[in-house]
Amino acid sequence: MTATILVGAQWGDEGKGRVADWLASESDVVARFAGGDNAGHTVYVGDRVYKLHLIPSGILHEHVTCVLGNGMVVNPVNLVREIEELERSGVRVSPERLVISTRAHVITPAHIALDMASEKARGADAIGTTLRGIGPAYLDKTGRQGLRAGDMADVESFADALCERIEKANATLVEHGLEPLSPREAAENYIEAARRLSPFLRDTSMYLNARLREGARVLCEGAQGTMLDIDHGDYPFVTSSSPTSGGALTGLGFGPRYVERVVGVAKCFSTRVGAGPMPTELEGPLADRLRGTGENFWDEFGTTTGRPRRCGWLDAVMLRYAAQVNGFTEMVITKLDVLSGFDELKIAVAYELDGERLENPPEMLAALRRVRPLYETLPGWQEAIGGVRRWADLPRAAQAYLERIETLVGVPVTTVSVGPERDQLVFRS
Ligand code: GDP
Repeated sequence: MTATILVGAQWGDEGKGRVADWLASESDVVARFAGGDNAGHTVYVGDRVYKLHLIPSGILHEHVTCVLGNGMVVNPVNLVREIEELERSGVRVSPERLVISTRAHVITPAHIALDMASEKARGADAIGTTLRGIGPAYLDKTGRQGLRAGDMADVESFADALCERIEKANATLVEHGLEPLSPREAAENYIEAARRLSPFLRDTSMYLNARLREGARVLCEGAQGTMLDIDHGDYPFVTSSSPTSGGALTGLGFGPRYVERVVGVAKCFSTRVGAGPMPTELEGPLADRLRGTGENFWDEFGTTTGRPRRCGWLDAVMLRYAAQVNGFTEMVITKLDVLSGFDELKIAVAYELDGERLENPPEMLAALRRVRPLYETLPGWQEAIGGVRRWADLPRAAQAYLERIETLVGVPVTTVSVGPERDQLVFRS
């Protein structure tokens, strides 16, 4: 049993990047299993900030091999750009260090244009996607007409297939009053990227199984979060894949017998980007306080889109649900430093709907939109905690806040993050 699955317990942006960076230091392989460059991880090492969208943050550890699994959708041009940016800052990205599944699907320029068309057509009901073509790429995958990364190995026929897809998409674009794409022009960058990426392509399921059999420690790095899962999230305000622990197995192609830990990462308050229900959402000065001004790179503005995130109190109802869907064996709580200075803190412990107390989130959107959070109020703490490294040195009120989360969710909190830097972690011994 050597695999660890790391997933977001909320709506994404929980700080998975820094947790993955820490767990990667104890891993041989770090694999992503779902989504594409709609994800955004930020890792802070020394005075450098790395923003990664496709490549797992494990790439920053020299001994680690990174895998882009079959469950992903990959934009080859953006992947090449990310590889080049890493190389420019001195990180070597060779086929020994990065392996791309031949079964991953390719995001084409048509997908990106169709993403925009679909959001435009939804008008006020737009999902708030990152406009990276993720949804349309998964639509083609399940519609059995997608292009797979393995198709890039034959550049000529890949280019033809790409042009054909673009021509087909043009009809839809024109229908929506959008500019059609020039197939040749759009394909050009892709052909170059295909050539560059060919040496990285491989059957990653075979690769991972072989590594697991020999006892390699594999970290499955989730993107997005549980509440954005296509099955378990707030449908339809979800992503098009399964960022939950089950998705790690289908998205990488190995069995549950290898899984030892399922680590849920949760921020100590709630944030959400884009539309969709968020029962504990705050407005006004409290929300501004949690969000930050944008001055610090960790303030609550999207890594991929720059959009200000919606902010609110911690929602233990959602966390309890996430713990169940994923089977968390432990939780990591991030950004505890941001809560210093509040007189009191609230946690939603249940919801109320039409006079009835609910312990679990309702599964239908209409009901979820109408729930009212039932809060418990806990004392805050004033001390800055960025320098704390031992649980016993956390203010008593901070410990009580964490212990309350643990009880409400029913999963142990083993680690707490108190700042963005690599060593700003408190382990509970
Ligand atoms: P992800 O999408 O879940 O991977 O989230 P990110 O990795 O993008 O994390 C969001 C931001 O919070 C990044 O800028 C991180 O450096 C920052 N961050 C992570 N943990 C902490 C923490 O404990 N305290 C503070 N202040 N910032 C943190």
